[in-house]
Amino acid sequence: MFSKHVTKDISAYCHGELSSEESKLFAEHIISCVKCRTKFEEIKLGIKFAEQLPQLSAPDSLWQEVDSLLGSESSPVRTMWSRRDLAIAAAVIVVFSVGIVWVYNSRRLPQNAWLVTRLVGAPRIGSETISSRGSLAIGEWLETDGNSRARIAVGSIGNVEIDPNTRVRLVATQPTEHRLELAHGKMSASIWAPPRLFFVDTPSAVAADLGCAYTLEVNDQGSGRLRVTTGWVALQAKERESIVPAGASCETEPGRGPGTPYFDDSTAEFQNALRNFDKDPAGRMDAVASILNQSRAKDTLTLWHLLPRVNDEVRARVYEKMAGFVAPPQGVTCEGVLALDHKMLEQWRHSLETVWLPGGGKGILKKGLKAWNKVE
Ligand SMILES: [Zn+2]
Repeated sequence: MFSKHVTKDISAYCHGELSSEESKLFAEHIISCVKCRTKFEEIKLGIKFAEQLPQLSAPDSLWQEVDSLLGSESSPVRTMWSRRDLAIAAAVIVVFSVGIVWVYNSRRLPQNAWLVTRLVGAPRIGSETISSRGSLAIGEWLETDGNSRARIAVGSIGNVEIDPNTRVRLVATQPTEHRLELAHGKMSASIWAPPRLFFVDTPSAVAADLGCAYTLEVNDQGSGRLRVTTGWVALQAKERESIVPAGASCETEPGRGPGTPYFDDSTAEFQNALRNFDKDPAGRMDAVASILNQSRAKDTLTLWHLLPRVNDEVRARVYEKMAGFVAPPQGVTCEGVLALDHKMLEQWRHSLETVWLPGGGKGILKKGLKAWNKVE
C-alpha cells in the first residue's frame, strides 16, 4: 500500500492511527521520497501550530452584541448588517474554529506515557522500583544505579536503552515530537521515524534524530559525547548545529555547545587538534594546520563544519583543502563558500554525503531499516 506516494496517509501517521507495520513502511517511503517528505514537514508544522493555539474565548461584550443582533430578527436591520456586525460575526466564527481545532487535536493525542522494561537490577521511576515493567509519564524521572539497566519503548518509533548510573526524564510525547532529557549517564537510541521527531535534551545541546541509531553520554560536569552508529543525528544549541553521520562522533560542552564532528577512525593527532580548536577557535591556528595536514577525503565532514567556525583567512585554506578532495558541484563557487552562502554550503554538503557514507542515501536507508527490524 506504500509503494506509491504516501501524502494521503500523513495525517493518519501524525495522529498515530497507522499500525506499527504501516508506520514502518510510511517512514521508509518518507526518508527516500523528497516530495512526500516536504509535504510531511508542512503538515507536521501545521499540526504543531494547531496544538499550540490557545483556547480563546469571546469577551462578554461580544456575546451581548451577538444577542442583540439575533434578538432583532424581525427588524429590517437584520437583513442589512453593517460591516462592523459582519466583522463581529466573523470573529465569533474564528474563535469557535480555533476552539474546535484545539479540542479535536487534544482528544487525538496518544496516551502520554512510555513503557519501561527492566533489563537488569532495580531501575526506578520516581521513587518506585520497577520489578519487570513500568510506565514513564511526562515529567517523571527514570533512574538506574550502578547495577541496573532499562529499556524504554518510544511510542511505536523505536527504543532507548538506559545504561547504569543514568538519569532521564520524559519531557514530551506527541505525534509531532517525542523528547527525553538526559541529565547524566549513557543511553543508546534506535529510532526509525521521519527526521526530527525524536529529541534528547542534554545540559549543553539537543540531539535531534534524523533517522538513526546512536549513543549519547553526559558526565557529571554536563559535557556530552554523541556517537552515531546508523543514519544521522543533528546536535544543536542556539545558532550552532553539527550534523553527525554514522561512524562519526561529536562532543558538546556547557557554555560552548556542540563541537566539530569527526570520524571515529580519524587519527589521534587529528582528533586532538580538533579538541584544541574547539576549546579555543580564535587562538588555535596551529590546530587548524594540523587538522588540514591529517585530513582524508571523508574528513571533509570536519572541514565542512569548520568553514563557518574559522576566520576569513583560514576559511580560504579549508576551502582549498576540501576542493582538492571533492570539487564543489555546479553552482557552488569559491566566493560563495567563503562568504558562507547558506544555499551553496548545503548544496556542497549534499554532494559530500556520498564521500561521508559509502552508498550515499541508499546505504543509510538500508542500515536504518536493519536498525528498525532489530528494535521490534
Ligand atoms: Zn512519495
